Amino acid sequence: MLVLLVCAVGANRPAFAQAPIVYQLSFAEREHRVMDVEATFTDLPAGPLLLRMSRSSPGRYALHDFAKNVFNVRITDAAGTPLTVKRTNPHAWDVTEHGALVRVRYQVYGDWIDGTYLSIDSTHAHINMPAALMWAHGLELRSTTVRFDVPAGSGWRVATQLFPGTDPATFTAPTLQYLMDSPTEVSALAMRSFVVPDGDRMPTFRIAAHHTGTDADLEALTRDAERIVREARGVYREFPAYEGNTYTFIGDWVPWANGDAMEHRDSTIITGPRTIRADRGDILDSMAHEFFHSWNVERIRPRSLEPFDFEDQNLSGELWLAEGFTNYYGPLVLARAGLTTPAAFAAELGAAIDTVITSPARRVRTAEEMSQMAPFVDAATSVDRTSFDNTFISYYTWGSAIGLGLDLTLRERTNQRVTLDDLMRALWQKFGKPGGRSIGYVDNPYTIDDVRRTLGAVVNDQAFADEFFRRYIQGHDVVDYESLLARAGFAWRRVAAGRATLGLLRLQDGGAGARIAAAVPFDSPAFRAGLDRDDLIVAVGDTAVRGAADLIRAIAARKPGDRASITFERHGQRSTATVTFDEDPRHELVPLEQTGAALTDAQRQFRQAWLSSHAGNSF
Ligand SMILES: [Zn+2]
Repeated sequence: MLVLLVCAVGANRPAFAQAPIVYQLSFAEREHRVMDVEATFTDLPAGPLLLRMSRSSPGRYALHDFAKNVFNVRITDAAGTPLTVKRTNPHAWDVTEHGALVRVRYQVYGDWIDGTYLSIDSTHAHINMPAALMWAHGLELRSTTVRFDVPAGSGWRVATQLFPGTDPATFTAPTLQYLMDSPTEVSALAMRSFVVPDGDRMPTFRIAAHHTGTDADLEALTRDAERIVREARGVYREFPAYEGNTYTFIGDWVPWANGDAMEHRDSTIITGPRTIRADRGDILDSMAHEFFHSWNVERIRPRSLEPFDFEDQNLSGELWLAEGFTNYYGPLVLARAGLTTPAAFAAELGAAIDTVITSPARRVRTAEEMSQMAPFVDAATSVDRTSFDNTFISYYTWGSAIGLGLDLTLRERTNQRVTLDDLMRALWQKFGKPGGRSIGYVDNPYTIDDVRRTLGAVVNDQAFADEFFRRYIQGHDVVDYESLLARAGFAWRRVAAGRATLGLLRLQDGGAGARIAAAVPFDSPAFRAGLDRDDLIVAVGDTAVRGAADLIRAIAARKPGDRASITFERHGQRSTATVTFDEDPRHELVPLEQTGAALTDAQRQFRQAWLSSHAGNSF
């Protein structure tokens, strides 16, 4: 293998002859949340050097405009003489005339710990590369060397998926895509690791934690991580070929962190303000989800995201699969690994199904179209109000409901012979496993039609696959969850049977009444009566309403189908409308045992085949 690899490198010699781009990252002003960056570009071809700060970050879909935190930019030649720079847009530094070497020095401010931004402080440098590194157009396939100037006496060390270099503070990346995909934590972190044999490979899994908890907490988390890793492997029956044969979970669990998790090819960043012990459930959720991404999205990748465009929004109609199916498999992997109960698994997926069934947004956009909304909703900010309460369902939520619906439909129609795991493995074999000629790239990304055809092949019934996509992914229908889930011994039941509602309204005390504080759901009783956001309800029938609690009591006194007059104020004018109350539409999913009924043998077997451990599975 090694000999072959050396030959392959020799064949590509021209690309490797170019000197690597070198970044030096220093932290002299870390207490002021500033990082110093020096980037040296050598062996430059003639023509302008087009330097850029990214506007987007892999796995996040809104624009972030990272250039906003960059200052003191100095661009010089080898002798330190300033070069002429043209600013063609806020993210661009175009060096029109230069020699073989250009040196760029700048400072960048970072004070946000999560999976997207930069955080520098006296305890660490937490670096998401797109938020930190200026890069050059046309040099995307050049290798990079990154040197971390670890402060003397700090005890800081480096955790990253970047390739180890000549010393513990020097790393390399083979391409720009890989560099940008390699978040790095530099701090007095604690590291644990384990190995899981996989055929003839022995991949290492590391947990690198910058945290305020105990060693025992970290060790318990490492044991949980190993169960997750083995269980996720049971779906695909092999690990991806992690670059460097290593996958790293990087955790930042300090009180000043924000809750987040972000996937990468060979690592994940998981952050939160609570300790490992206090946040165990959420951390395991994140680990299971992000680790599943090392197949689904990092390698089984939609064509719409490949290669990732760092300068623009990345529009994808496939996030119901890339994020949504991952969101189904996260809880499923935890249930199979015995890290959650069937009841907790049912509660999580039940909430997703309930949202999809009851949300009026399902009539407005399909799951494919919801995916295309990501640039407006995934860490996006807007000054003006939006209609999203009525027109948007998260592709995480709808996608997980589709994943559940498809899995159960396949299990029912084939007597569990074909499951969603088979589809994921088929997608892995066809689109993920072939990999890419350049590290960090995927040469065989999929389209939505590829997935439809792969499903047809897996079930040996293209008409079924076409119909499923037409109705449930590119249409507005939902599967019959109640009957499908009954097969596995789960009950779909009303949360508040017989209780009247005006619709799922967000209410505030409005001084002299109850104010509607968010969009009124389309087709709800309040909507049909002409009520809307900001209206102040002051009476129901003859009963005065002086606050939200009064309104909730007044509704509780009615029955579904009852009619009543509602008095409300809007823009200072008082009006009256007539409402007809509906029955509270909310449902929940619970194990049948919890309702007092007993599981049949068939239900027990169905649930067992679905939710028991698959960790021992292999090709
Ligand atoms: Zn995700």
